[in-house]
Amino acid sequence: MVAVNGYAKINLLLDILGQREDGYHEIATVMQSLALADTLTLTKQESGITLTVDLPGLEADERNLAYRAAALLMRECGVRGGVHIRIDKRIPIAAGLAGGSADAAAALRGVNELYALGQSDAELCRLGAQIGSDVPFSLMGGTALATGRGEVLEHLPAAFDLPVVLAKPPVAVSTPWAYRSYDANPPTQHPDRAAFLRALHAGDIAACLRMAANVLEPITEAAHPVVGDYRARLRAAGAVCAMMSGSGPTVFGIFTDADDAARAAEMMRQETDADVHLTHTMGRSAVGRGI
Ligand code: ATP
Repeated sequence: MVAVNGYAKINLLLDILGQREDGYHEIATVMQSLALADTLTLTKQESGITLTVDLPGLEADERNLAYRAAALLMRECGVRGGVHIRIDKRIPIAAGLAGGSADAAAALRGVNELYALGQSDAELCRLGAQIGSDVPFSLMGGTALATGRGEVLEHLPAAFDLPVVLAKPPVAVSTPWAYRSYDANPPTQHPDRAAFLRALHAGDIAACLRMAANVLEPITEAAHPVVGDYRARLRAAGAVCAMMSGSGPTVFGIFTDADDAARAAEMMRQETDADVHLTHTMGRSAVGRGI
């Protein structure tokens, strides 16, 4: 039996550079892993892939990204035998936190270990990119600049180790809708990626957090004002940075003080309808081990 964690991510910077021939968008994003994780427990079985998911409503069949990742690696390596995967889901779904990609990454690591396949990180990333653009980052974790459609990674120095409050409002945001709306109404202003990266390399976290920005935030926020409301609440509660992750709708607040973060999480639970998680940023070495 093998147990592997798949970690959530937030986007500290998210810029869209253009549309590609293949229908995807060319993006540049700085992603950061969080300690919030799903746990996958894998056991060998005679044949086939079966799933148990502790969340009603989340598909427990070949549509699940963990299933697809396991199937791809097992096919690629000619594995005889099957696997049962139990997913203990903690990452909110369809939230902008890449929970599905986290599970796909954990399934790749888990099957690789369970069947002693010896596949390298590079090989797992190559397969992961076929499942989803965020899977390579979910495999490697830490702090990274992702370009292309999000699958080309450059590791960055660990941004910081700080508490994070996640607040997911009870609204659904479709990622394709967010990108379509962006295309229909692209902004004139883009985040200053070069300055952000310079500050990160210099260890100037305050400057990084000041420059953190997500071009999809105004799009989602216009349709769902609750996003702006949560950002304002988290900032009023002491967050040094409060912004939306991915295409949303989850809002994250980064705090410099653990007690402030805990108080802010409690305030969000009491005063809003948000699904709230108190977590913290997570470095690459822990994510790479998968536990
Ligand atoms: P991203 O940040 O990459 O856009 P997300 O956080 O918005 O991702 P996910 O939670 O990864 O969204 O899932 C989006 C959809 O993928 C879900 O609505 C669900 O139907 C499907 N899905 C398939 N497998 C999984 C999984 N293991 N966990 C979560 N969702 C899954």
